[in-house]
Amino acid sequence: MLICPICKYEYVKGITICPDCGERIVDDSSLVHPKDLEEKDWLVIYTSVHEYELQMLKDNLMSAGIDSIILSHRDRNFPVPGDLSFISLLVKKEQSEEAAKFINEVLKS
Ligand SMILES: [Zn+2]
Repeated sequence: MLICPICKYEYVKGITICPDCGERIVDDSSLVHPKDLEEKDWLVIYTSVHEYELQMLKDNLMSAGIDSIILSHRDRNFPVPGDLSFISLLVKKEQSEEAAKFINEVLKS
């Protein structure tokens, strides 16, 4: 399913930019839905309105052997603090310090 990460509208195949937001439309299958999460095991390490930015960090983390997931805030009942138009990158608690260091390095360069 193709959705705009900001307004969450669904689009048909072939549309690449949301006409309302100007945001790149993403394949929803790359987003994790809250029901798939054990909330207590994961911490938000980074948020952005840009899914590609999170995807880039996720790829970087993966190359460092750190698991991460991208969380869509489409389900507004899920208690993630902050602006709900944002999408979040979550990492496992036990890897969160390592991941934070790594992300700081990535963002610096
Ligand atoms: Zn949109």
